[in-house]
Amino acid sequence: MNILVINAGSSSLKYQLINMNGEIVLAKGNCERIGIGGKFTHKTHDGRVLSKEVEMQDHTAAFAVVKNALLSGEGKVINDLSEVAAIGHRIVQGGYKYDRSVLVTQQVIDDIDDLAELAPLHNKAHVQGINAATAAFGKEVPQVVVFDTAFHQTMPPKAYMFGVPYEYYEKYKIRRYGFHGTSHRYVSARCLELIGNPEGKDTRIISCHLGNGSSIAALKDGKVIDTTMGLTPLDGFMMGTRSGGIDPSVVSFIMDKEGFNPKEMDDVLNKKSGMLGISGVSSDDRDIAQAIEDGNQRAKLAWDMRTYEIIKYIGGYIAALGGIDAIIFTAGIGENQSFLRQEILESLGYRGVKVDMDKNNVRGQEAEITTPDSTVRGFVIPTNEELVIARDTMNIISGN
Ligand code: ADP
Repeated sequence: MNILVINAGSSSLKYQLINMNGEIVLAKGNCERIGIGGKFTHKTHDGRVLSKEVEMQDHTAAFAVVKNALLSGEGKVINDLSEVAAIGHRIVQGGYKYDRSVLVTQQVIDDIDDLAELAPLHNKAHVQGINAATAAFGKEVPQVVVFDTAFHQTMPPKAYMFGVPYEYYEKYKIRRYGFHGTSHRYVSARCLELIGNPEGKDTRIISCHLGNGSSIAALKDGKVIDTTMGLTPLDGFMMGTRSGGIDPSVVSFIMDKEGFNPKEMDDVLNKKSGMLGISGVSSDDRDIAQAIEDGNQRAKLAWDMRTYEIIKYIGGYIAALGGIDAIIFTAGIGENQSFLRQEILESLGYRGVKVDMDKNNVRGQEAEITTPDSTVRGFVIPTNEELVIARDTMNIISGN
C-alpha cells in the first residue's frame, strides 16, 4: 500500500510517497514558490533527480505537477493513480478539538479553516492542500489529517493555561497548544523502545526537538505534561528567527516606540528575532557556529543565550516530572550539533549525567550518547514525521 504524505505551506508543497510494505520512500520532493513563479524538485528511491522551474499558480497546479511526476516521465514511480491508497496531511493547528488523527470530512475541513485564526500562515494553506489533493486525486482517495498539536492534548490545565483573564480562554480559546507533536511522539515512542519500556509506565522523558523551529516536551508515563511552544510556535526559547518567550511588556514597548502595528510586531518576533536577531549573522546554526569560530561576539552571545534558556527549561521540567530517566535530541540541530548536546548534558552533571564524548560525535544517526554509569540516558533519535503521518493514515483507512 502506498501513502502520499503532504505538508502544504503557504507557498510550498512538500510530499513523500511511502510504500508501507517495508516503509520505503518511493519518491519525495518539494514545490516551492507557488503563486510567485515555481520551482519543483523530485527525487526517487533509486536516485533519479528532477529539478526544474515550473509555473505553479496555486496548490491545485502544484498537485498536478506532483501527480504527473509520480506517474510519468523521468521521475515515474507508479503506473496508475489507483496505486495511491490514501493521502495524509500534516496540519499545524488542531486546537482543543483534535487529540488524534482523523479521516477528512467536510466538518474536519471547516474546523481546520476555523482554527486558522490561531495559525494564520499554516491552516489556510492546509485547507488549500486538502482541496487541491481532492481536485488532483479525486474524492475516492481517502485523506487523513495529522495534527502537530494533538500529542500535547494530554497536558493538564495548570500547564496549558496562561495567566490572563479567564474570559479570553472562554471567548477565544487562548491557551498553550504546543507544536512538533508528531515529532515528539515519534522520538519518544522510539526512546521508550530503547529503554525497554514501550508502554512508558513510570518513565520521565524530556524530548528536545531542536531545528529552525524548536521545542521541548516533558513526558510522564509516555504522555506530554508540558511543552515550550504555546498558543503559536513562537513561545519557548530562542530559535532561528523567533524570539521565544520574553517579558510581554517588551512587545507593547517596542510597538509604541517604533509605531508598529500588530502584524509588523508579529513579523519582528517571528522572522527577525532569535539567533538571527541577536547575532545579526544568520538564522542557520551552521553559519552561527562558523561566525563564533571567526570570533564574532554577538554570534557567541546568541549561542550562549539559547543554551542557557534550554538548560533552564530542562531544569524546570525535571522538577515538574519529579526526576528524569532519559533525554532525547532530534531535528536538524539536535541530530547534528554535538557541542550543543554536550553543553546541555554537561549542565546536568550535578545530577550524575555523563556524556560519552565518542558516541556524542554522531550526526543524523540514532545513538546513545551518555556513558553506562550516567544517571540519565541521553539519545540522539532522528525524527520522521512523515512516517508517523503515513502510519496514522494507513491505520485509519484500514479501520484500526
Ligand atoms: P526546520 O524543519 O524547522 O526547518 P530543521 O530541523 O531542518 O529545521 O533544522 C534546521 C537547522 O539545523 C538549521 O539551523 C541548520 O543549521 C541545522 N543543521 C542542519 N544540518 C546540520 C549540521 N550538519 N550541523 C549543524 N547544524 C545543522
